[in-house]
Amino acid sequence: MKILVTGGAGFLGSHLSEKLLDIGHEVLCVDNFYTGTKKNVSHLMEHPNFELIRHDVTFPLYVEVDGIFNLACPASPIHYQRNPVQTTKTSIHGAINILGLAKRTGARVLQASTSEVYGDPTISPQPESYWGNVNPIGIRACYDEGKRAAETLFFDYYRQYNLDIRVARIFNTYGPRMAPDDGRVVSNFIVQALQNQELTVYGEGKQVRSFCYVDDLVEGLISLFFTEGIHEPINLGNPAPITMLELAQEIISITGSKSRITYLPLPSDDPLTREPDIAKARQLLNWQPKESRGDGLRKTVKYFQELVN
Ligand code: NAD
Ligand code: UDP
Repeated sequence: MKILVTGGAGFLGSHLSEKLLDIGHEVLCVDNFYTGTKKNVSHLMEHPNFELIRHDVTFPLYVEVDGIFNLACPASPIHYQRNPVQTTKTSIHGAINILGLAKRTGARVLQASTSEVYGDPTISPQPESYWGNVNPIGIRACYDEGKRAAETLFFDYYRQYNLDIRVARIFNTYGPRMAPDDGRVVSNFIVQALQNQELTVYGEGKQVRSFCYVDDLVEGLISLFFTEGIHEPINLGNPAPITMLELAQEIISITGSKSRITYLPLPSDDPLTREPDIAKARQLLNWQPKESRGDGLRKTVKYFQELVN
């Protein structure tokens, strides 16, 4: 298949593009390099089935493809809050343009949605049937509501035009090729630990997240895309909850760092907990993460060691 990956020069997009090429597909990678870089895909540039286009998905795109993974959108809070209006446009105008492209070409189209659609959840773990608890006017809303509206568009295009949609609700994912200045917690803590700087725990560090290694996540995305008839949102993540304070301690221990922990103010609307219920992915895709957090973190530390030293 000829597959378009928007946001293909980002962290997840570059791993996904690589995997799609490995299994024999052609990949058209589209990115405006807002948070992604050419360096993330430089090793793919010579591949005969790989093509890279600089383009912003808030503008229409005319290409001929058989399948689409729509990943374009900054994922780290510091980056999506830097230009919140552009973040909302990327999610909503981007979805409209990409769905229009899918409608014209008849391509199957997968949306990279997020656990953020659950907001600050009142139940844990979160199943897909949970409608969420999102502040519509807070500093995270540009991302959370943008992604929620994108889901609305995907399901309306499915009901109204019978488009072959997939919606993956991705929970916190980490691994090699996260940018060192990305601002998300795993990359922050690892870079800080490797440089013997203080690890910046926000609040008291009691907030909970569940971290999935990138290879597992990419396998889940591909499995969801190629499984027939799944027209409902599917959670993809690793149900192994940990507090941010425990994560800081775990990373200090893995790196053997002399770093200490410092406490900074908790950003507003920072969800207290996040844990995926992946019963649907297990049942419908026969998918579950394989990599333990310890092994995944060690691989990620190795990547950053080569980058920052
Ligand atoms: P990332 O920031 O590394 O990648 C996003 C990519 O999209 C970047 O290459 C960026 O330059 C590109 N982009 C941003 N705006 C664009 C635009 N208007 N036009 C074209 N390209 C644009 O983030 P990531 O972690 O790789 O996330 C990829 C997708 O997965 C995002 O949609 C994100 O919301 C979703 N997601 C990721 C996670 C995670 O933990 N990594 C969790 C939930 C959802
Ligand atoms: N966090 C932290 N220190 C950091 C970066 C993040 O304590 O240097 C916390 C943040 O407050 C949140 C959690 O780690 O509770 C995960 O943050 P991230 O930005 O990685 O993703 P989120 O799940 O909030 O979108």
